[in-house]
Amino acid sequence: MSELTFLAQFWEGFHVTNIETNPTSIHFTLEPNSSGRCRCGQLTNSIHDSSWRNIQDATMLGRKVSLAVKTRRIVCPNCGVVTESIRWLEPFARITKRLQSYVEGLLPILPIKHISEVTGLHWHTIKQIDKARLAQQVKAPNWSRVKRLVMDEFALFKGHRYATVIADADTYQVLWIGVGRARQHIRPFFESLGEHCQQIEAVAMDMNTAFDLEVKQHCPQARIVYDLFHVVAKYGREVVDRVRVDQANQLKHDKQARRWVKRSRWVLLKNRDNLNTHQQGYLDELLSMNRDLMVVYLLGEQLKELWYCEDEEQAKNLWQCWWQQVIESGIKPLIAFAQRLKPYLHGITSSAIYRMNTCTLEGMNNKIKLIKRMAYGYRDIEYFFLKIKAAFPGKPR
Ligand SMILES: [Zn+2]
Repeated sequence: MSELTFLAQFWEGFHVTNIETNPTSIHFTLEPNSSGRCRCGQLTNSIHDSSWRNIQDATMLGRKVSLAVKTRRIVCPNCGVVTESIRWLEPFARITKRLQSYVEGLLPILPIKHISEVTGLHWHTIKQIDKARLAQQVKAPNWSRVKRLVMDEFALFKGHRYATVIADADTYQVLWIGVGRARQHIRPFFESLGEHCQQIEAVAMDMNTAFDLEVKQHCPQARIVYDLFHVVAKYGREVVDRVRVDQANQLKHDKQARRWVKRSRWVLLKNRDNLNTHQQGYLDELLSMNRDLMVVYLLGEQLKELWYCEDEEQAKNLWQCWWQQVIESGIKPLIAFAQRLKPYLHGITSSAIYRMNTCTLEGMNNKIKLIKRMAYGYRDIEYFFLKIKAAFPGKPR
């Protein structure tokens, strides 16, 4: 078998008429063998005209491969004048199917920049391949089975624009994503949910959003649940951080003690179970020396228990008990936080009935941040949203 015949196996229906090589690349000229095939399957010898297309192929022996391909327009008895169909090349494509599947195989494991270095393809070309791949991968939701929702907002890139993500609380399939976080921005979701709005039992969300009003309009029977993850994060920012900084400032005279308190952010906000013995010791000592930090730490732990009550009655009693201790503590940021939280109490106690898995919401939030960091630079919102949907295909019920 001659070298040229061997090589022609890569490009069915074509033969190699010229090869140019240099240390980093190989260039092949390919011409068609015989009759042309229409996309309907018809073979014909009737050729209308021909032209040359420049195509990129997968690397060979570490060298980039470019092709000059003579493509023809044929006269098909069924379809008229059409471009002939080539098995290894999509119509209008600039790369072969072989290179495309190679890129598709790399996309789940390598960043676009690296794939671009390996294949020599422009990142934009690779991004388009990824978009097509993801669009095919993402399945439309089965609306009739959706009963509980979770809604969250996140900042889009570095600007002040926001996006809203809505997921199925039982499967964690992302059902919808849209730019904006106002009522009119999320309305299209409820419009696509249509008659299934009536079957929604509960919706988990952060406090202080426009979401609850829109939910009440479309799903008046649904209970609103304020999720633990957001409340705990808010408690960390508005109470623990505030008290820690206030305490550090009172220790101006004692530089070492001041630095010690200032550096305690991490151990205070982290779940105690996730600390090692050394960190737990540090936390215990810090709390024993500082009454206010001790109080906000313990009341923070107690606050979380509101989400794990057996029924709403128990949750309401626990709230009363918590509220009493907050008022008695006299710690201003803590009291202010509790006062802001109070109007949302109904959405917290309802979590005793409609339990939502907060760990998953937190995981989702973190994953979106990660995807955002990776997709930063493309500034392609459609691509970013597709990536999020593909990352949350939904677990079996
Ligand atoms: Zn045809």
